[in-house]
Amino acid sequence: MPELPEVEVVRRGLERWVAHRTVADAEVLHPRAVRRHIAGADDFTHRLKGHRFGVPSRRGKYLWLPLEDMHQSVLAHLGMSGQLLVQPHEAPAEKHLRIRVRFADALGTELRFVDQRTFGGLSLHENTPDGLPDVIAHIARDPLDPLFDDEAFHQALRRKRTTVKRALLNQSLISGVGNIYADEALWRSRLHYDRPTATFTRPRTFELLGHVRDVMNAALAVGGTSFDSLYVNVNGESGYFDRSLDAYGREGLPCKRCGTPMRRRPWMNRSSYFCPKCQRPPRAAS
Ligand SMILES: [Zn+2]
Repeated sequence: MPELPEVEVVRRGLERWVAHRTVADAEVLHPRAVRRHIAGADDFTHRLKGHRFGVPSRRGKYLWLPLEDMHQSVLAHLGMSGQLLVQPHEAPAEKHLRIRVRFADALGTELRFVDQRTFGGLSLHENTPDGLPDVIAHIARDPLDPLFDDEAFHQALRRKRTTVKRALLNQSLISGVGNIYADEALWRSRLHYDRPTATFTRPRTFELLGHVRDVMNAALAVGGTSFDSLYVNVNGESGYFDRSLDAYGREGLPCKRCGTPMRRRPWMNRSSYFCPKCQRPPRAAS
């Protein structure tokens, strides 16, 4: 699944190439790509036609294109392999092209949703008063959101009987942090993933949030160079950031801080990568 920085790169690409353009017509080439749009493909295309996209928004890993003056948005589910491409009309259809949106202007490009594994899709939803698609109203703000409340996050950590990595992946506490960036931020913070949060001090929480933001901004800085092209996409991997990872995927390799071989442990059907020396397990778990 793409994480926040990858989704933000796509959002910027859409802002550059799709915002403020009016839909001439949309075409659904595979019904699975609109299965979250309960009223079906015909309703989806009918409701888009003639409306103008506003500036694309994002919260955590969720990305949407508002329809201007409609209080509705097209929510993009990128799934495992979903891509949003802006292509010239004449570019041949991709093998896994699922949805095509043409515009009523002379720019010569169209928006395409391409998805090999068809876990993703597009759907149209009513907005909440905050301008969020209603189906994601429960998703917390992400740490790059200027309105994210660090103090409220700290209080929530203290209240919850949870451990730090579970908290980072809990989308109702903080959104946009996935497995990769959680491991990276925990390594930078020298925190073991199973550390209980109930005893966290305010400085510890704020330091952790600082590392979460740093690692995301670093990924954005690397990915941010690719969005200023006609081709915007998410391929489900954080490929462009792989070389900068300090923890994730580095089992057996020396810790970049102390040289101790990094470890991998199964964790909630995924893996956690950590340095056994810099990130000591809590006493109860060791
Ligand atoms: Zn280490």
